[in-house]
Amino acid sequence: MSTIFSQIVEGEIPARVVYEDETTIAFLDANPLAPGHTLVIPKDEYERLNDVPDDVAPDLYAAIHQLVPAVEDAVDADASTVAFNNGAEAGQEVPHVHCHIVPRFDDDRAGP
Ligand code: 5GP
Repeated sequence: MSTIFSQIVEGEIPARVVYEDETTIAFLDANPLAPGHTLVIPKDEYERLNDVPDDVAPDLYAAIHQLVPAVEDAVDADASTVAFNNGAEAGQEVPHVHCHIVPRFDDDRAGP
């Protein structure tokens, strides 16, 4: 199976890539909930968080850790919602682990 996110990793589908290292890539969400809405994914395809191997998980976390303040700064956000929809019943539409970084603003009332 090749998810739409794997096709982004392979460069088969265009995306605004904002970060990339050996195991992890981040790009802007195509349907942003707020300006700067970013998705952080492992390059290899794992459906759920529990499927991410022990030697890959730290890289994913390190990228998130670095990107949260960078995304907030980039759009001058006051805060951010950082979330995984982990499984279809939780609203996960793309079966390839992804972390949402959604910038939040003082006057925004509607969360994701
Ligand atoms: P989920 O509901 O699975 O947690 O979130 C999937 C996210 O992927 C959604 O926010 C959706 O807008 C985003 N998305 C779906 N297809 C594409 C795509 O082809 N490119 C990009 N950049 N984002 C996508």
